[in-house]
Amino acid sequence: MNLLIYDAMVVTMEEGDPWFCPGYVFIEENKIKAIGKGRPTEKFFSRAQKVIKATDKLVMPGLINAHNHAAMSLLRGVADDLPLDKWLHEYIFPIESTFVNEEFVYWGTLLAGWEMLSGGTTCFADGYFCEDGAVKACVDLGIRAILAQGIIDFPAPGVPEPEQNIAHAEQFLKKWQGYSDLITPALFAHAPYTCSASTLKRAKRLAQTYQTFLFIHVAETNWEVEQIKKEHGLTPVAYLENLGILDERTIIVHANWLSEEDIKIIKDTGVGVVHNPESNLKLASGLCPVPDLLSKDIPVVLGTDGPASNNNLDMFQEMDKTAKIHKGIKLDPITMPAKQVLEMATVIPSDIFKLNTARLKENALADIIIINLKQPHLYPIYNPHCHLVYTTDGADVETVIVNGKVVIEEKKLVCVDIEKIRHKIIDLAVKIKQKLKSPDAE
Ligand SMILES: [Zn+2]
Repeated sequence: MNLLIYDAMVVTMEEGDPWFCPGYVFIEENKIKAIGKGRPTEKFFSRAQKVIKATDKLVMPGLINAHNHAAMSLLRGVADDLPLDKWLHEYIFPIESTFVNEEFVYWGTLLAGWEMLSGGTTCFADGYFCEDGAVKACVDLGIRAILAQGIIDFPAPGVPEPEQNIAHAEQFLKKWQGYSDLITPALFAHAPYTCSASTLKRAKRLAQTYQTFLFIHVAETNWEVEQIKKEHGLTPVAYLENLGILDERTIIVHANWLSEEDIKIIKDTGVGVVHNPESNLKLASGLCPVPDLLSKDIPVVLGTDGPASNNNLDMFQEMDKTAKIHKGIKLDPITMPAKQVLEMATVIPSDIFKLNTARLKENALADIIIINLKQPHLYPIYNPHCHLVYTTDGADVETVIVNGKVVIEEKKLVCVDIEKIRHKIIDLAVKIKQKLKSPDAE
C-alpha cells in the first residue's frame, strides 16, 4: 500500500539536515520512496492509498530495543527489589522451569510486542527459550525482530537435556531463516558463567555457519567478573576473546564491569555493546562506562532488558535515563548529548543489525512512528532531539508503521485483538500466582 504522511515535523536522523517542518514522507510498499520539505506535489496525493495529515505531529524513525526477553512480560512484577542472584535462582528460574513453553512465549511476546509498538519501538532483539512462539507472535503483530534462541548448560524450557542445546538452536535457525522479512533468527548464549567454553565455541561456530548474531550477557555484575577470573584467570571479556567468539556479529549485553584492557578488546574485535540502564539500576548490578566506549567509536546501543527486571519496555525512558545517568557519573552536563543518545536507539542499532531502518531517507525500510505533539508537556519545541530524549514518552506515540504497514493506528493495535491478549495473560498470571503461593506446586 502507498502511504503519504504530510504537514509533519520530520526528524530524519540523517547526517547534515536532521529535521524540518513542515515536511512529508511518501511510502511505497515497504520502503520510503520520497521525503521532502514543504507540501508534497499533487502526484503524491494521487498515488497514495492512505493519507495521514500530521499537523502538530512529529514523524521519526521507529526505535530499536536492542535487548529484551519479551516473554518475561508475563513475569513483570513477580519479584522486585532483590539482588540478581536471588532474583534469578529463587524466583525467575523456578517459575520458568514450570511455566515456560511455546504457548507462554507466544502470549508473553504478544503482550510485550503490543507494549513496544504502542511506545514507538518498531524493532527489538530478543533472547529467550521456545523462541518459535516469539516468531509467531512477532509475525502476527507485524513487529520487526531479531529473535535469538537461548543456549544454557542446564535444563531449560523446551530443551530438557542441555547436551541438545546447540542442536536445538540449529533447528531454530534452520526453521526460520528466510521465513519472513520481519524476522532475523539468531542465538543467545546466556552468560560465560552458565555456558561452558565448549558450548560457547559451538554456539559461535553455529552463528557463523548461519551468518547470524550471537548475543551474550557479559560482565553484568562484579560477582561474575570475580567468578570468571577465579575459574579461568581472565576477565569475562578477555576469556571470551580467548575462546575466539568476539567479532562484529557478537553482541555483548551489559558490559558493566570493564577494565581498560577489556575496552581495548571490545574496540579491536568490533563487537557491539548493549546498555540497559533501567535494568542495571533496578538490580544494582553496575553500569556500563558508555561515554568511554563511545569516545573510542565503539557502537553502544540501548535495550530495556526483560520486563521482569525493568519493569516496562519504554525506550523513551531508557534514552532519558542514559543521558542523565552518565552526566551524573561524569559530573559533566555536556557528556551524552540528546542527539547521540537518540542515535543509540535508532541509527547505531540499525547499522549493527544491518537493518536499513532508522533513517528517513529514500529506499530505507519504512519503520516510522508519529508522535502527537498537542499535549501540555510537549509545548513549546525548540530542539526536537532534546524533546524526544528528555520530554517525550512512549504514551505520546500515536501511529506506528513497520515495513510500510500501519500496525498502530491512533494508539490501537491493528493486527491482533487486544481483548484476546488481555484475557489470556490474566489467565496465565492466575496460574503463576498459585505457584508463588505454594512453591512446590507443579
Ligand atoms: Zn538480559
